[in-house]
Amino acid sequence: MRQFSYVRAENATQAVKAKATQANAFLAGGSTLIDLVKLDVMQPDTLVDINSLPLYDIEKLKDGRLKIGALVTNNDLAWHPEVKARYAVLSEALLSGASTSLRNKATTGGNVMQKVRCPYYRDGVSPCNKRAPGSGCSAIEGNNRSVHAVLGTSEHCIASHPSDMCVAMAAIGATILVSGPEGEREIPFTDFHLLPGSSPDKEHNLAPGELITHVILDKPLPGNRSHYLKLRDRASYQFALASSAVIVSLSGSTISDARIAMGGVGTKPWRAFEAEQSLKGKTPSQAAFEKAAAIAFAAAKPQSQNGFKIPLGQQAIVRSLKTITA
Ligand SMILES: Cc1cc2nc3c(=O)[nH]c(=O)nc-3n(C[C@H](O)[C@H](O)[C@H](O)COP(=O)(O)OP(=O)(O)OC[C@H]3O[C@@H](n4cnc5c(N)ncnc54)[C@H](O)[C@@H]3O)c2cc1C
Ligand code: SF4
Repeated sequence: MRQFSYVRAENATQAVKAKATQANAFLAGGSTLIDLVKLDVMQPDTLVDINSLPLYDIEKLKDGRLKIGALVTNNDLAWHPEVKARYAVLSEALLSGASTSLRNKATTGGNVMQKVRCPYYRDGVSPCNKRAPGSGCSAIEGNNRSVHAVLGTSEHCIASHPSDMCVAMAAIGATILVSGPEGEREIPFTDFHLLPGSSPDKEHNLAPGELITHVILDKPLPGNRSHYLKLRDRASYQFALASSAVIVSLSGSTISDARIAMGGVGTKPWRAFEAEQSLKGKTPSQAAFEKAAAIAFAAAKPQSQNGFKIPLGQQAIVRSLKTITA
């Protein structure tokens, strides 16, 4: 039996002070953390419960952006009127995730911070550079069909980022607000998650002790036609093999702006900036969409079992673009 302490923080300062070391963990909905503690994959000395912190609000800012408290649940966010009306792609992404009961527990901050679903990471014993740095990567020569990436991989880790919510946020554009021992700071969403490189155990840009307090969504693109498409082995309660979050603004019959992000295929929520550029100024067409999808996967490197993710991910982009421009 592994011993750990439990502390309930009443405000952000207390939470940050209690977290102070890498060995402690913030407890939000617990849907990732408690699983991994039970599996002995995460071994915190102290669980710092943040559920009493006042981080449950969703506020429309004067400049049109939307400020979301870190403890807003995935269901509350998905069904919020501002999100349904102005950020439909985020609502669709959230509702494609997990189950209703899990979404009632899962929080915005916890979803941003959720861990990979690689079976070798979660079994607690196989060589895994993310869990035990320097031990090797069992997935490269092993089972790498469904929860492993084709973009952003390294010889040290190939696990895909599992979040649906984060893919939509990457497409929309967002800023993460954090509070830590050195005060408050902002991190652009696309800089928050890190590529595995040679240190896959370092997954994000938070310094030790830092707490996510809010996520601020950029103002939506004018016009804001959008779609989240998740392709998976089962129609519900399953992580994406490949997904796409696509947003397009049309000026007459021309694409004036476009956003594309992908899930299930990258080691972080994957924004396809060059594919977006290729669509700007174009008339919507099958050829333009296929070209954008090809550009999005130009750097893809298949693993031994997941090469199918490249055409699947491309189809997700093309289908989403066709749906919103039809
Ligand atoms: C069966 C199952 C199916 C799932 N299916 C999907 C799916 O299809 N799509 C999908 O996107 N997700 C899916 N998930 C993952 C789920 O969305 C996450 O577990 C959830 O979002 C995590 O949020 P939480 O509040 O429960 O986090 P917790 O478990 O409390 O915390 C997760 C991690 O984040 C840290 N943390 C939490 N809050 C903060 C904060 N404010 N600041 C800093 N660190 C913080 C914790 O210390 C911990 O390391 C699934 C999970 C399960 C168990
Ligand atoms: S893919 Fe990453 S998480 Fe999975 S075994 Fe390899 S190092 Fe570990």
